[in-house]
Amino acid sequence: MIAEVIVNSNVKSLNKVFDYNIPQDLEDKVAIGSIVLIPFGRNKKLEEGFVTNIKESTSFEVKDIAGVEKASLTEEKIALSKWMAKKYFSNIAECMKLMLKPGTTSKNFANRISEKQATFAKINISKEELSKYIADKKIKSEKQIAILNFLMSNESAQVTEIIEKTDTSRAIIKTLEKNGLVSLYKDQIQRNPLVNKNIVKTNNLKFTEEQENAYKKVLNSINNDEYKEFLLYGVTGSGKTEVYLQLIEEVLNKGKSAIVLVPEISLTPQMINRFISRFGKEIISVLHSKLSVGERHDSWEKIENGEARIIIGARSAIFAPAKDLGIIIIDEEHDSSYKSEMSPRYNAKEVASQIAKYNNIPVLLGSATPDISTFYKTEIKEIEVLKLTKRANNSNMPNIKIVDLRKELANGNRSMISMELYKKILENLKNKKQTILFLNRRGFSTFIMCRDCGFVAKCPNCNISLTYHKKEEKLKCHYCGHEEKLINICPECGSKKIRHFGTGTQKLELEINKIFPKATTIRMDIDTVTKKNSHEEILRKFNEEGIDILIGTQMIVKGHHFPNVTLVGVVSADGSLNIDDYRASERTFDLLVQVAGRAGRENMQGNVIIQTYNPENYSIEYAKKQNYEDFYNIEIKLRRQLRYPPFCDIIMLGISGEQEKNVCDISNKLYDKLESQIKQNAIQANILKPLPAPIDKIKNRFRWRIIIKTNLNDKLIDIINNCLYDDEITKSNVRVIADTNPTNML
Ligand code: ADP
Ligand code: ZN
Ligand code: ZN
Repeated sequence: MIAEVIVNSNVKSLNKVFDYNIPQDLEDKVAIGSIVLIPFGRNKKLEEGFVTNIKESTSFEVKDIAGVEKASLTEEKIALSKWMAKKYFSNIAECMKLMLKPGTTSKNFANRISEKQATFAKINISKEELSKYIADKKIKSEKQIAILNFLMSNESAQVTEIIEKTDTSRAIIKTLEKNGLVSLYKDQIQRNPLVNKNIVKTNNLKFTEEQENAYKKVLNSINNDEYKEFLLYGVTGSGKTEVYLQLIEEVLNKGKSAIVLVPEISLTPQMINRFISRFGKEIISVLHSKLSVGERHDSWEKIENGEARIIIGARSAIFAPAKDLGIIIIDEEHDSSYKSEMSPRYNAKEVASQIAKYNNIPVLLGSATPDISTFYKTEIKEIEVLKLTKRANNSNMPNIKIVDLRKELANGNRSMISMELYKKILENLKNKKQTILFLNRRGFSTFIMCRDCGFVAKCPNCNISLTYHKKEEKLKCHYCGHEEKLINICPECGSKKIRHFGTGTQKLELEINKIFPKATTIRMDIDTVTKKNSHEEILRKFNEEGIDILIGTQMIVKGHHFPNVTLVGVVSADGSLNIDDYRASERTFDLLVQVAGRAGRENMQGNVIIQTYNPENYSIEYAKKQNYEDFYNIEIKLRRQLRYPPFCDIIMLGISGEQEKNVCDISNKLYDKLESQIKQNAIQANILKPLPAPIDKIKNRFRWRIIIKTNLNDKLIDIINNCLYDDEITKSNVRVIADTNPTNML
């Protein structure tokens, strides 16, 4: 028998099927979806490949397959990979890798995922005794108490985890063992990230009428094995999650599985706990980028063998090998993280549709501020909209006030905090309520400049200014991670008049600490979220320890539910307005509505203050009114007039390399080829001449781009793919990528 094999490679010229003979001794092992080792190229080096088909014969002279490993690619996933490769201009193998059990494609994978033993600790006496022991002050050491408290809420835990979470040491655990309070034992590492959660069970809530209606519509599709897409459009707190939960229950009752996608950033313990407390942890598998290969491998296995039937994860969880998939739910569907910025540059919503069609199941998208393109699809009836207009627990929508920073400046207030916001924070502190301050820039000041000659400190690798980080006294590049010491003297003219401009979360925190010296603050941005769980830790602290003010970047805005937060301050709403992207207004509107949704989620009235230099901008105006549909109506008109998505697709070809001249040459050649073929085939497309990208150098690579505005069809996809696979391009030192409707146009 002959196997059709795709080589596991990102090299463009290898993106095709090769025939190999299946030797007799491997005949019952090689199947569609297997990973095989094949002799490849002139020196017959063994390469990894994926079997995509098996047939009787071939007209080529073929070599033997040298080895086989079991893999889990189903025919569905093979077809999906081929579909994706074409649509997203990538190699089939690259797409397949997203669908394989993590850890399977490296040749030494057996070592990497081998079962490991580790030391665990658990408490030796009953919780009651121990609590009493601690209450009676029989233990003096704070660190020992920290460990015991941790163990009381987690039953047992791996020693390394205890040390990390409690900031203690092995010696302290040993002491506790010596005193008979804790016992240590060896066990298999349980690589299930949910193992240590003790959670109270919740029951179904009685639906509101709107929830009931939405639920029934989707349930109908589930019952009829029907592919259909729905948009659950409801303000934050309108009870979308409750609808998800009860639909999943029905899917489970049918013995099927559910995939729930959420933005990476909102895969918070709070959010996952809502699922665990309804369904128990055994049936749930969480997939996200912070898991180790081993953890992901284990989750994958639990999903594959049907043990885990609720899969919650970020974008790539759409590829999980769910058994008998019954529904796909995509929460916060407008979130940009559903579009991959790495090859394959897929959009998880489009992939979800493809999977749902194949399996005859519904897709449920949810959002308070739907993607403009999604909402447009509800108008042209491609998607059915289900509305939730009221907050489920009857809490009021927050009061939103806009502060014009120009007036503030005119009144002599140079601080980052307007008078209005200052008063509200003060009031909140008095009333022991919590406040969130949002600023979408991390670091201290966003650039530093010489007052005398205008020199701006820039990254040597990227054409971008460096951000000052005060704590480390360093200048950092947020694109490539380059760091250097803060300069006090201008390297160009020797002047000492180095000034700092722009503000980030570090500076905001410092300023808040100055203005409100008694208030406790905590900051959340990439700089403070470093260790595996400190994201969780920061939120827990804020929530449980009653910290007065949480300061953060957009990490804080998604889906968190803080009952005691009644005030949200947007320190500057302008950051996302000034980006060079047709979605700038949409992004600003989304962000402001999401941030505002954090205020007053229970029965207390929430207040939001938005500070801006552009109070008359329509995205800010409608965010104030919390009126998505009015915003949508203006935005869709503009998109239609200017012909932007959803009225066309934007295809961006990114050309990058170390020599600027090569990049420019290849860009021009590519342009000529594309243009002539577009003409020849009479394709309606507007192709713009190659130009340097807005950020024209990153990590020492020069970047150009070609933009095509068109309604992307199969013919044009073929043309673009052919140009990308052209020898002249694949053999040059220049890299060319193509991306449809990219998230980032910079
Ligand atoms: P969303 O997902 O739309 O932000 P949630 O599902 O988180 O909304 O609901 C917000 C709050 O309302 C939660 O505390 C939830 O428990 C509560 N809730 C949801 N549905 C109902 C209902 N039918 N009756 C009472 N409370 C509800
Ligand atoms: Zn200077
Ligand atoms: Zn850089």
